[in-house]
Amino acid sequence: MGEARIAPGATLGILGGGQLGRMIATAAASLGLKTHVFCPDTGPAFDVAAGRTVAAYEDEDALRRFAAAIDLVTYEFENVPGRTAEILAGLVPLRPNAAALATAQDRLAEKRFAAGLGIPTAPFRAVESEADLTEALEALGTPAILKTRRFGYDGKGQVRIHAGDRPGEAYAHLGGAPAILEGFVPFTQEISIVAARSPDGAFAAYEPCLNEHRNGILNVTRLPAGIPPGVERRAVEAAEAIAASLDYVGVIAVEMFVVGDDIVVNEIAPRVHNSGHWTIEGAETSQFEQHVRAVCGWPLGATTRLGRVEMRNLIGDEIEGWAALLAEPGAHLHHYGKARARPGRKMGHVTRVSR
Ligand code: AMP
Repeated sequence: MGEARIAPGATLGILGGGQLGRMIATAAASLGLKTHVFCPDTGPAFDVAAGRTVAAYEDEDALRRFAAAIDLVTYEFENVPGRTAEILAGLVPLRPNAAALATAQDRLAEKRFAAGLGIPTAPFRAVESEADLTEALEALGTPAILKTRRFGYDGKGQVRIHAGDRPGEAYAHLGGAPAILEGFVPFTQEISIVAARSPDGAFAAYEPCLNEHRNGILNVTRLPAGIPPGVERRAVEAAEAIAASLDYVGVIAVEMFVVGDDIVVNEIAPRVHNSGHWTIEGAETSQFEQHVRAVCGWPLGATTRLGRVEMRNLIGDEIEGWAALLAEPGAHLHHYGKARARPGRKMGHVTRVSR
């Protein structure tokens, strides 16, 4: 489907019912849009959307009914099945497009794509068997990281391999799924670029943020990132080249490592991103509003940062501190309303901005 002429009053379809969908829907409502969430399970986004479908992504009838009820569709997670994207894209504008989704879903396709644009990545090899892994380890050395090509998130679906480790055990750990071996990148910092691109090619990036992980999960994001201006420029240029090459529409996040005075691209997320949550209170325009503006073909908002910012995830039972956070002047609490706090589950976040 080609051009969408979207105006307030239209209905934005959202695939995925998690907290990212919830925050997109809230931003969409502020701009006069209605939203309809489609997800196999109910989740945080269902509490804030007028339209709701609980159905499998493979349910073609449900997808057709969904498409008939919306004016365009976006997604809040990158594991939307290719066939689902294809069906919907034939009925309503799908933004970001299916090719962007396909590239970002597969770590191997993603790395080949970035490398093809001349953007540095970790050295990598495709691994489909134990023999491939042995060969790849000979080429890349140790330490190295074996990752599943698909469905990895928050450090899941990956295993580190050190000198002396048995390749067979590492390969078995991933259950024989198609994988990629990456050489270990000796980075000093992890940053991400959150940016938006419009259907007319306009591009607007937030400044890079510094990300700290704990147990493979984003723990804290801080700004300013305190990286040299040259590195910051390289990071934004890489994100812009990626978005332009994918003919991308919407918010995109590119996770990168800082190595010396350059960047290495680790991962492309074709969606709003946890490391962009700081923008709700910390920037002129939030990433969620920016995503809505971009997918609707509306003017992008200013990405100016409003002060020093710290965004902290509330993981597992950390959410129990919600009342104390509400009592803290200047702490902006976001509670995702999830019923059960499992270890490692993102339950909310808190942002502090000092001006
Ligand atoms: P990922 O799932 O690719 O985002 O990886 C999770 C975390 O593992 C990253 O945030 C890094 O801290 C680390 N990591 C991933 N890939 C590499 C690599 N090639 N070299 C060094 N560290 C890595």
